[in-house]
Amino acid sequence: MSTFVDNLMAEVKAKNPSEPEFHQAVQEVAESLSLVIERHPEYRSAKILERIIEPERVILFRVPWVDDQGEVQINRGFRVEMNSTIGPYKGGLRFHPSVNLGILKFLAFEQVFKNSLTTLPMGGGKGGSDFDPKGKSDNEVMRFCQSFMTELSRHIGPDTDVPAGDIGVGAREIGFLFGQYKRIRNEFTGVLTGKGLNWGGSLIRPEATGYGNVYFAQEMIGTRGESLEGKICLVSGSGNVAQFTTQKLIELGAKVVTLSDSSGYIYDEDGIDTDKLNFVMELKNRRRGRIKEYIEKYKKAVYSEVNPDLDHNPLWLHKADCAFPSATQNEINANDANNLVKGGVYLVSEGSNMATSAEGIHALLEKRILFGPGKAANAGGVAVSGLEMSQNSMRVPWSREEVDERLQNIMKNIHSTCVEVAERFGTPYNYVNGANIGGFLKVADAMLDQGVV
Ligand code: NDP
Repeated sequence: MSTFVDNLMAEVKAKNPSEPEFHQAVQEVAESLSLVIERHPEYRSAKILERIIEPERVILFRVPWVDDQGEVQINRGFRVEMNSTIGPYKGGLRFHPSVNLGILKFLAFEQVFKNSLTTLPMGGGKGGSDFDPKGKSDNEVMRFCQSFMTELSRHIGPDTDVPAGDIGVGAREIGFLFGQYKRIRNEFTGVLTGKGLNWGGSLIRPEATGYGNVYFAQEMIGTRGESLEGKICLVSGSGNVAQFTTQKLIELGAKVVTLSDSSGYIYDEDGIDTDKLNFVMELKNRRRGRIKEYIEKYKKAVYSEVNPDLDHNPLWLHKADCAFPSATQNEINANDANNLVKGGVYLVSEGSNMATSAEGIHALLEKRILFGPGKAANAGGVAVSGLEMSQNSMRVPWSREEVDERLQNIMKNIHSTCVEVAERFGTPYNYVNGANIGGFLKVADAMLDQGVV
């Protein structure tokens, strides 16, 4: 069956040159699906996977804006509308200088499977811009967001495509984007998720990705009869996902000893407690400072600057039980994976999308590490976005407890789907196969139902 994967990959690489992240994401899914295609020739003859890897639509546009010095700036905007078989396109917007079409295609592709796993009616999409919000004034960010939405508003809508946040797009940016959409379209609808609580947002949405990842990890570690209490945890990143992963881990009695940003990481042997986390939240969300400032306040902690010459990330060298990568793609390579295992880590749950390289995943699975792939482990964010859409449609907000309970149930269900599907296809406790196949089956069957479109 690897000829199926080889042939598919040859075509993907020829048709999508210079998109290594997209190739990586497709290859991982194709390898899992070779198990399915053997048993289900109908998917093969209908060319389901070949259709899923082709976006239904890609929108690429100019985003001109004027900076505080009066100079004209031009960025590039994108929306990849990947698959709408089971619901409107749904997936975040990323504002980061590294953004390009290949990265957004990998994210949109992953989103199709992730959204299917949540069991909510959401298709897959992703978008963003190479705009860097870092170092920009609030007014500059607002002008950029308004220009971005002026074009994007032609293509999205509550029943068509519902974007949300991702790297570089948090509450501030969603506010500016929503304001401009409402102004242009003269309608108040749930066209974006991650909205403010006073204007259509859902309780628990900011927390959802991090909390959901910890709930998923709880389920994984539960299969070994253990809990997260007392476990030493490595977390990377210090944005939305990292912050709420840390918050939930603290609540469950675990000890988080690291956080990072793109400049470096801090190691706090005593553990990051609630006060220290509140400091990080204020630092990152309000003052928009660097993680380095943590050691000025907490003197026992150690800061290490990123060293681009290293072939590994020293954050993953520390002794621990669990790791929650929550920054960006490919932040755990094969060396990091081996270092994690050497340091005693036996659970890795991906908060970031495709946090681990293909070689890294291989190294972890070989050592029988509990490995939760992002598609499953970080699906809590989009799941609560789905719940935000439901609340918007009904025009009734749910309580914090109600949303949190639904989130916990969704994460439990995703976990049991992964376990059940992995087992059914002969690879017990391989959560990568479980998530890829589990997410695929629902979309594939719906595509068969809907004909060749
Ligand atoms: P934020 O922008 O809030 O935070 C991102 C964090 O990661 C920051 O600390 C940032 O540091 C760091 N980071 C970003 N890019 C790099 C890089 N190239 N190298 C090292 N560090 C980097 O984003 P989120 O927390 O929302 O997203 C984090 C990850 O989680 C992403 O992979 C995202 O796709 C994924 N995710 C997010 C969801 C959500 O609901 N927000 C849902 C599901 C997945 P710095 O400030 O220096 O840039």
